[in-house]
Amino acid sequence: MKSRKKDFSEWYTEIVKEAKLCDLRYNVKGFVVFMPWAVSTMKKMYAIYEQELERTGHKPAWFPALIPEGNFHREAEHVEGFTPQVFWVEKAGDNVLEERLAMRPTSETAVYQMYSLWIQGKSDLPLKIYHSAQVWRYETKATRPFIRSREFHWIETHDAFATREEAEQQVREDMEMSRRVIFGQFGIPFIFFQRPEWDKFPGAVHTYAADCMMPDGRVLQLPSTHLLGQNFAKAFNVKFLDEKGESQYCWQTCYGPAISRIYAALISTHGDDAGLVLPFELAPIQAIVVPIPKKGSEKMIEQKAREVVERLSSCGIRAEADFTESTPGFKYNEWEMKGVPFRIEVGAKEAETGELTVARRDTKAKAKVRLGEIADYLKNEGRRQLEDMKRKAEEEFRLRLSSAESIGKLKEELERGKLVAIPFCTIEAEGKTCAEVVKEKASGDVRGTIYGKDEKPEGNCIACGKKAGAVAYAAKQY
Ligand SMILES: [Zn+2]
Repeated sequence: MKSRKKDFSEWYTEIVKEAKLCDLRYNVKGFVVFMPWAVSTMKKMYAIYEQELERTGHKPAWFPALIPEGNFHREAEHVEGFTPQVFWVEKAGDNVLEERLAMRPTSETAVYQMYSLWIQGKSDLPLKIYHSAQVWRYETKATRPFIRSREFHWIETHDAFATREEAEQQVREDMEMSRRVIFGQFGIPFIFFQRPEWDKFPGAVHTYAADCMMPDGRVLQLPSTHLLGQNFAKAFNVKFLDEKGESQYCWQTCYGPAISRIYAALISTHGDDAGLVLPFELAPIQAIVVPIPKKGSEKMIEQKAREVVERLSSCGIRAEADFTESTPGFKYNEWEMKGVPFRIEVGAKEAETGELTVARRDTKAKAKVRLGEIADYLKNEGRRQLEDMKRKAEEEFRLRLSSAESIGKLKEELERGKLVAIPFCTIEAEGKTCAEVVKEKASGDVRGTIYGKDEKPEGNCIACGKKAGAVAYAAKQY
């Protein structure tokens, strides 16, 4: 196995193949088959997210995959931003369609024409709907399984409110939810940035996006939440009658946790040089029982292994025993590669005494646990394991943070795989030329300012030399 830290790119490719997460042999370029080991975990991630969304007042809906071309043209920035990435349906059977249909690259233009029908009065607000689905984008950058592909799986939320304050509050709620789920339950550290004007979601007033760090020091964008203001409401005529009987445009937000991409961050953040390391709640198999054969005791060992699996299953733990012909050593490697949180060894001694040997995937620490206590032990230790994984990931993240006062120093820091604080003139539209200088001279991307952290800049803009107006962050990105 390649080294996760030294050869991340090769490590990633190897793990996708060896742990059977994706099959890249599908014969449409940029499309892959997501395999059971990955999908089992992603379905659990979906369930956790959907539960959080419903807890905060969102209702599920399923919108059509096809969007008429005319819908795109109703919001000028949106059409400009997305049209180059759209897959179009131009024919149905032998008939050329009168109007081309887009395979949705995102669903604003499908959802908001319906909102204009559904929202009439103030009692229809707030309207908070989520939609779990896949979207299609004709990516021209190199594709990588889970990180960037032409079809990906995500959740979109589309919320409409009577006031700007409520919409702003929703954006904060989206960020808090990201923190609870992606860090709290998946253990992936990240920072929310307010994206610069030139890097916003097409059609948004403000975009806030979470960046996590991959082991090669490049950032990967996880969910973003967008304050859409009234831009789409005006384009799609989403209005309500206020108390005075006057017609008002709604204030809108949307939020898009891409589950398949968060999965890329999950495997990259926690994996090690032996393979995947999965959090207990997300693992398809939480405990694997490996029998250690001994001549004359085969029956007894097999029986005990089955007993352990039954006991765990009856306590709601996903457990299996590996009775294949391979050696125990081979099995250890295989299940470590797949990231199963606990391995339970059952040999002649364990079968006789009922005292089992349990190995933790992340630390490789071993413990002796009595059969009667095994289920409680795994549940408690599983929680502890996630907390340890979070601490380790946070520590690694902290070591990636750095700062620079000159373009030369910035370039050096970026080459060392850092996320670098820089004095910068502004993330308003005028700052764009300075971001281009950063890109050209230091091969970095300006990610924006940290949300909620009012940092006071010192000195002058790293690119133009004018007095700095913001502490911005630069990184190499996926
Ligand atoms: Zn500048």
